[in-house]
Amino acid sequence: MERTFAIIKPDAVERKLAGKILARIEEKGFTIAGMKKIQLTRKQAEGFYYVHNERPFFNDLCAFMSRSPVIVLCLEKENAIADWRTLMGATNPANAEPGTIRKDFAVNIEENSSHGSDAPETAAFEIPYFFSALELV
Ligand code: UDP
Ligand code: MG
Repeated sequence: MERTFAIIKPDAVERKLAGKILARIEEKGFTIAGMKKIQLTRKQAEGFYYVHNERPFFNDLCAFMSRSPVIVLCLEKENAIADWRTLMGATNPANAEPGTIRKDFAVNIEENSSHGSDAPETAAFEIPYFFSALELV
């Protein structure tokens, strides 16, 4: 079993797409080990995305991620990290495969409806950024 970290981003929560995205997650066999609705502060968004802090999109990304609530998730399954990236689709929805969350729901490359850890080391940072061990079941 592997765990990954996921976010249903502000654009999707605002458009009331959380239920549809959660249904896809469960249909693909993920177990929801942890879930909560929170609103990130600007500082929390900056800390979460620190690896991108030199990128030109960093400021806009952090403003977007803190503008309204998100749903943060810890997902469990064999091969959870890669399988959740596949289910999300490419970062830019224009390049995402049909049937992926980003192809079907994203607004654009920034407001792309979902986040997923990209490697085991990333998941190991991201999961405890949001969840204590006691919140994962
Ligand atoms: N992003 C953006 N412009 C870009 C690339 C990324 O606004 O040119 C945003 C987008 O919301 C993306 C996030 O920054 O999901 C993190 O970028 P990353 O390259 O890590 O993509 P991801 O891992 O989310 O597919
Ligand atoms: Mg990434």
